[in-house]
Amino acid sequence: MSDGGCLFCRIAKRTVPSDIVGEADGLLAFRDIHPQAPTHLLIIPTEHVPSLADVSGAHTTLLGNAMQFANRLARQYQLGSGYRIVVNSGAQAGQSVWHLHFHLLGGRAFQWPPG
Ligand code: 5GP
Ligand code: ZN
Repeated sequence: MSDGGCLFCRIAKRTVPSDIVGEADGLLAFRDIHPQAPTHLLIIPTEHVPSLADVSGAHTTLLGNAMQFANRLARQYQLGSGYRIVVNSGAQAGQSVWHLHFHLLGGRAFQWPPG
């Protein structure tokens, strides 16, 4: 699947600039343009997957790799005291970009339940 009009596909293809911090196993990590924490990275598959609701067994390795990538980035950014991974799936959950992404947030305390 590919989507030439998708913002995060364009970031993955480097046709839209972003602050890329890492790449691994079909995944890209870059800084969120409106950070909600001192460290706020987005981890995306370089292939177009619209949302978590669209993943299937074909994505099992990709999803596992994404969590390991997040773990490595958390170590790199010294988030050992705690970090949060967020996936907003669907409009009601607040998804605004329709290309699967994992928010990696850290560097401050977080509340529960989330807003
Ligand atoms: P969502 O609301 O879909 O869970 O998250 C989308 C995220 O993408 C938001 O946190 C938003 O700040 C970020 N974002 C939107 N447009 C851009 C952009 O052009 N560049 C970057 N780096 N982040 C973006
Ligand atoms: Zn896309």
